Amino acid sequence: MLAQRQENAMTEQGSNSGDFSIPRDLFTPEHDLYRATVRRFVENELVPHHDAWEKAGFVPREVWRKAGEVGLLCPSIPEEYGGFGGDWLYNVIVIEELWRHGMSGPGFMIHSDLCAPYILAWGSEEVKQRYLPKMVTGEVIGALGMTEPGAGSDLKAIRTRAVRDGDDYVIDGQKVYISNGQTCDIVVTACKTDPAGGARGVSLIVVPTETPGFERGRNLEKIGLKAQDTSELFFEGVRVPAGNLLGGEGRGFAMMMTKLAQERLAQAVRSVVVCEQAIRWTVDYTRERKAFGGTIADFQNTQFVLAGLAAETMSARIFTDWCVRRFLDGELTAVEAAKVKLIVTDLHCKVVDQCLQFFGGYGYMTEYPIGRAYVDARVTRIAGGAAEVMKQIIGRDLFGGEA
Ligand SMILES: Cc1cc2nc3c(=O)[nH]c(=O)nc-3n(C[C@H](O)[C@H](O)[C@H](O)COP(=O)(O)OP(=O)(O)OC[C@H]3O[C@@H](n4cnc5c(N)ncnc54)[C@H](O)[C@@H]3O)c2cc1C
Repeated sequence: MLAQRQENAMTEQGSNSGDFSIPRDLFTPEHDLYRATVRRFVENELVPHHDAWEKAGFVPREVWRKAGEVGLLCPSIPEEYGGFGGDWLYNVIVIEELWRHGMSGPGFMIHSDLCAPYILAWGSEEVKQRYLPKMVTGEVIGALGMTEPGAGSDLKAIRTRAVRDGDDYVIDGQKVYISNGQTCDIVVTACKTDPAGGARGVSLIVVPTETPGFERGRNLEKIGLKAQDTSELFFEGVRVPAGNLLGGEGRGFAMMMTKLAQERLAQAVRSVVVCEQAIRWTVDYTRERKAFGGTIADFQNTQFVLAGLAAETMSARIFTDWCVRRFLDGELTAVEAAKVKLIVTDLHCKVVDQCLQFFGGYGYMTEYPIGRAYVDARVTRIAGGAAEVMKQIIGRDLFGGEA
């Protein structure tokens, strides 16, 4: 009886905050209302269509516009640029609700958390007015182009070149693995403005994809994230106004290092919610599935493995929420962001792997969410900075920058 009451209390607290394991004190009643709107949108407008988008390899544009209409895109963009000026917790809610429902297709996080923040922080007033309101409505889809065939982890080695010519920059080069690459209207593009300058030679320029000389390669075939379009991008004599430069010439690397912390935290937010959801799916499934005269959940092994994962997930949740709070207070460091990304994406891969095991053959079928979660997970230890790069950042900090 007592156990039942405790369980009910936990569930109530959990549902209040959108989490199954701990009461979370990050969110206000306004956030909870927003979460309900986002959840409704996800359940009605995304979940029924995701299978079809996985087959097509992308999410149609009209979905972006619908998402814009209900306020899911760039929620923390200030009112003067068309947003509703929410804090970053509104972005967190969108990420959590998408991934709680296994909606890995819509590249809203790339748009709202990876692309728009650069424009908001470093765009000229004209650039902000030109792009941000349309990013909020979904009329303009954003991408972030850093990685190249010859440079991913070592971003200062990029070779895409931007040469100043009068009032323009002329861009030549190539990018690869760019999320939203097939559908985007603008790419915040990392270029070399000074090839001899190393990290100080990198600049960021907003490139509209309608510009002559810009071409998209094929939609790359991935092992997971099947509904998310990912592309090579080609730039041949792409002429954009010099005013599209963000920050100043040579400041691109420093800007990327600042915003990468936000991207890494966003990845941790995404991963911890998948851990929680995978455990829920597995508890439900193993309770029902019969074997050897009982259920799979009756095996002590099942309970022990899930208990261990639940405990680790709870600590990941607490660490992630702590980092979110630090970010909101403007105090999250690059090292903390690297730590949370490292720990939580690692756990993400472990949880989906171990949970899938309990589904047996069904787990290997793509129609089961756990099977998709498994293939979708793997990229989290690579994109936005490989696990080893996170360790390098943490290691440098441990050894006072001398390692
Ligand atoms: C699905 C997907 C979506 C992506 N979306 C985007 C996007 O929207 N925009 C964008 O710009 N990029 C994107 N990327 C690229 C991603 O950020 C890079 O793949 C990632 O940074 C790693 O770069 P790389 O692939 O060139 O690997 P490399 O740099 O070649 O590294 C390969 C491996 O070497 C090891 N390694 C690298 N550096 C070190 C080190 N310092 N110490 C020890 N070991 C090391 C790691 O194991 C690493 O995984 C995406 C990638 C994928 C797969």
